[in-house]
Amino acid sequence: GDVSNKIAAGEVVERPVNVVKELVENAVDASSEKITVEIAEGGLNLIKVMDDGKGIFPEDIEKTIDRFATSKIRDINDVYELSSFGFRGEALAAISSVCDFSLVSKRKGYDCLELKSSFGGQPVVKPAAGIEGTIVTVKNLFGNLPARRKFLKSSSAEQREIVKFIRHFMLTNYHLSLRLIVDEKEFFLFPKNESMLDRARKIFKEKKIVHLTNKYENLKIEAVISTPEVQKFRRDSIVLSVNGRVIKDNMLTQAVIQAYKRLIPEGKFPLAAIRLDISPSYMDVNVHPAKLFVKFLNSGEIFSFVYDSILEKLESLTP
Ligand code: ADP
Ligand code: MG
Repeated sequence: GDVSNKIAAGEVVERPVNVVKELVENAVDASSEKITVEIAEGGLNLIKVMDDGKGIFPEDIEKTIDRFATSKIRDINDVYELSSFGFRGEALAAISSVCDFSLVSKRKGYDCLELKSSFGGQPVVKPAAGIEGTIVTVKNLFGNLPARRKFLKSSSAEQREIVKFIRHFMLTNYHLSLRLIVDEKEFFLFPKNESMLDRARKIFKEKKIVHLTNKYENLKIEAVISTPEVQKFRRDSIVLSVNGRVIKDNMLTQAVIQAYKRLIPEGKFPLAAIRLDISPSYMDVNVHPAKLFVKFLNSGEIFSFVYDSILEKLESLTP
């Protein structure tokens, strides 16, 4: 019901950046290659995500904002074998209960429809004009929750968080094209199918970066890391992703830092982006409602794998 959606909304969407993350991840789940994100006033006035993904069947459009409606699991066992970003079916229910919400979607060979709903009220579905793909528009975010809105930082601080998330996301999803529009001006445009190294040099604005890959059983790492002469003072210069999802994880951060410090004991922090691919049955992405953290079932092994992979690369650079 409406109340439980509002409660869930508090867990999934605390800030505009959480909305952007959920919508961008949905676009990727729908096999999009080209995404446009538009925000105004740090997302408080407008968040719009357009994709060229497979779209939604007309008969499913209303279900998208039902709580626990997900097209991504059919069987409870799938929860353990799922590689897509979303599968809780909560994000759009939560988001649509705290904003003026619109979703326009067209699936190839089907009519284009628009679903509109205001702060969790009765949804209205109408025919619309549109090309294949999906456009979600969020306006007046938290307009029904003045306390939540007051708790937010300035719109420029919220904007910074969104820009940071998108940079981090694009570092490890370097095959995707993404255009970001901020207050009606193009903020950046990443072309599709860049290499991870090229993408990282652009995003980090740093040339002294090296690339590595490694594999061990069902673990795969692809990473970029700055060479020892580049030193940063902040540990948030280390970007982590698991199966394409940007996460925070202390164990992985430590693996990177310790490998780096092994070679440069007096060193600060490197710039790094780690893309880990791991069989979904080895982790639980559901420990955190906004899916920012994951739980690994074999963290010792993963730590060593990341540590060894990075150390080996850094060692190969020094004569
Ligand atoms: P989840 O991603 O966990 O399934 P969401 O609430 O984020 O739940 O989305 C609900 C459903 O709406 C998805 O399962 C999917 O079927 C559909 N959906 C949402 N966004 C898109 C999109 N951009 N393209 C296609 N389908 C989408
Ligand atoms: Mg989702």
